[in-house]
Amino acid sequence: MISSPSLPYLLPNEHLISGLVRWFNHTGLNEFRRTCSPYFQNISTLSPMAAWRPLYSEIAQIYRHTLSPQQLLSQHSLLNYYYPFFLTKERAIADEQLLLNHLDIKIQPGLQKHLRHAHHWRWCSQCVSDDVSQFGGPYWHTYHQIPTMLHCYRHGEVLLAGCESCGFRFTSFDTHWLPPDDSQCPVCQTELKGQCIPLTGTVRWLESVSYALQREKSEITREKFLSWIHDKLGFHTLPSIYSLALRKKLSRLRLEFTDSLDDELLSLYFREEPSRLRGATQKLLNIIWVAYRGTSVPPISLLLMLRHLGLEHQLTCMLTEQ
Ligand SMILES: [Zn+2]
Ligand SMILES: [Zn+2]
Repeated sequence: MISSPSLPYLLPNEHLISGLVRWFNHTGLNEFRRTCSPYFQNISTLSPMAAWRPLYSEIAQIYRHTLSPQQLLSQHSLLNYYYPFFLTKERAIADEQLLLNHLDIKIQPGLQKHLRHAHHWRWCSQCVSDDVSQFGGPYWHTYHQIPTMLHCYRHGEVLLAGCESCGFRFTSFDTHWLPPDDSQCPVCQTELKGQCIPLTGTVRWLESVSYALQREKSEITREKFLSWIHDKLGFHTLPSIYSLALRKKLSRLRLEFTDSLDDELLSLYFREEPSRLRGATQKLLNIIWVAYRGTSVPPISLLLMLRHLGLEHQLTCMLTEQ
């Protein structure tokens, strides 16, 4: 049996995967997955899309000698951020011991693939220069991978996602694996610049809530969010047979929410065309499906619903009172 590689100490808020990436960088080899595969069974998928995946358990095993389970999960993965959005059954398996000891646990919110920022790794150019001077090289920060954060948690800079010129993204680490330290695309050498993002009230609120969720594990649950939404909408459950009047009312509530979201906002967070996102058959932004039919959606969907219903202060208060 091959013994585990000696991974470098994890740096502040460094994602678990990044420890593996920096280890690989030191090997001087140039095939990431082939180099890692003798040690890690689950190296095939590397996007930051899942809240937890089997590869994280494999990497975490190596760090267990130097970091507590709590440190590993809260600083070096996005579990804190995702935790309040888990379904009850997901919360049951998001237990420290289960996650660290079992290699078959994957937790990912439903419809996550529609998010604009869940498929590739992002970074901040100022963090890269700080990390180079402080730690000798760049690394992947956990906070930069939160899909509802568009700016750096330390510098407020727009996060970089790849190259607009040639389309390069960090998804597999096959050819390039660490954030570039010269602000140039590693493939076509175009200078990398962040997209200009209007700092609207919604963008600012989403960022402050996302930061607070990740910083400290919250006791808020999805059930709590849904009970607030139920109170606002005026129904706790829906009858099994709908009257025509109820059908019309539900349709109006659904449209009021989707109509409140402008195209610019939607295209910051989702990959789909805004008109498709607002369609009657889509579930990502269907407030009725989410509130009453248990549809699992990414955090952005629920957060936008809370804000639309004027419930954002309730969430903000709960997070700041912790
Ligand atoms: Zn930064
Ligand atoms: Zn490029």
